[in-house]
Amino acid sequence: MSNFWHPFGQLYQASHSAVVFDRGEGVYVYDEDGRRYLDGTAALWYANVGHGRTEIAEAIAAQARKLAGYSTFGNFTNRPAEELAGFLSERAPMAHAQIFFVQGGGDAVETATKLARRYHFELGQPERTAIISRVNGYHGTWGFGTSVGGIDANRQGFGDLVPDTYRVPYDDVEAVEAEIVRLGDERVAAVIAEPVIGAGGVYPPPPGYFGALREICDRHGVLLIADSVICGFGRLGSWFGVERFEISPDLVTFAKGVTSGYLPLGGVAIAEHVAAPFAREDSPIFRHGPTYGGHPTCMAAGLANCHILEDEGILERGALLEGELLASLKPAEKFESVLEVRGGVGLLAAVEVAPDLRAKDPGAVDRLAGTVRRNGLITRVLSQGLAFSPPLIVEPTQLEELGQIVVESLREWE
Ligand code: PLP
Repeated sequence: MSNFWHPFGQLYQASHSAVVFDRGEGVYVYDEDGRRYLDGTAALWYANVGHGRTEIAEAIAAQARKLAGYSTFGNFTNRPAEELAGFLSERAPMAHAQIFFVQGGGDAVETATKLARRYHFELGQPERTAIISRVNGYHGTWGFGTSVGGIDANRQGFGDLVPDTYRVPYDDVEAVEAEIVRLGDERVAAVIAEPVIGAGGVYPPPPGYFGALREICDRHGVLLIADSVICGFGRLGSWFGVERFEISPDLVTFAKGVTSGYLPLGGVAIAEHVAAPFAREDSPIFRHGPTYGGHPTCMAAGLANCHILEDEGILERGALLEGELLASLKPAEKFESVLEVRGGVGLLAAVEVAPDLRAKDPGAVDRLAGTVRRNGLITRVLSQGLAFSPPLIVEPTQLEELGQIVVESLREWE
């Protein structure tokens, strides 16, 4: 057995069926045997500008040669961190955003939820600690993210992690208000929601959901955290995904597409009023932050990637191509083994496998993904079915190919 314990992989099986990826180019990746796969998932929802962009590799190398890593704790900083914070702040869906850098999406969620609690503490309301999230939501696998996560299996067997977290149905905004009232609004710190639920099954919000959610949060003095780890950086056609729903959250978490995965990076965009209690000359320190927050080489990767997204018009493609991705997968609905094809808001979609089939055969979705892969397409296995989120540079003909491979695989499989 290999010594590598795969994240979200069955220890024995992952080791005995491993696919060794070797290189990538555009929307394709190649394994060690030279087999080519269409990357239907942009790795793990992140390779937004595609694989093999040498400009990003060169920006990383240049920064690594100059100053690879250096602390930003206290008042230490570096030019790429300042530049990327400025770039993101200008484009964030809130005025004068502060940008807090971390290493990935999970610690972005930790940062946003801790900051929400600490914000209320600074405002003299330390009892505001409850965090409301949604069934099917995914917010990473650290303490807060696990506790607020809405996929039951991901919370099992860890004992109590973060107390005072509550879930409501993902598609019922009135349930959020009812939960705030039930808990008492003087107890609620924040609501966290993905613009489009990703890993929990690809569920776009019902029409008007986010506008109503913003109003509810305002009415009760509750902070709204948009978890845009998947939805940002063009996935929904804009920088932070929520612009699509014309709201301004109090905090936005981001990761993945910020570097298109060329190096790990995450962060939180923080509205001015949330930063205000920490911004006075005599304010307390927000005693939080990972060693590699603002790491200069990761910052250089983020800057190079963001310029490519903007300068080459890639950012908008998540919205431009969303209909084509959905249309390419829709024919899968005619198979008995498929319950439905979901998506249409941003370049992400899911093919849900019929629940009775999954109940009878718990390995069904994994095997379907294996067939699809043997036919030259990478997908992501979710509890309900397969997810698709190709690089934003994908061409319409490649989306057609993606749909054809899925249909062909279902035919073989049934
Ligand atoms: N939040 C959302 C919405 C995500 O989709 C993810 C990862 O997929 C995370 C948080 C966690 O990010 P990471 O895996 O970088 O810790």
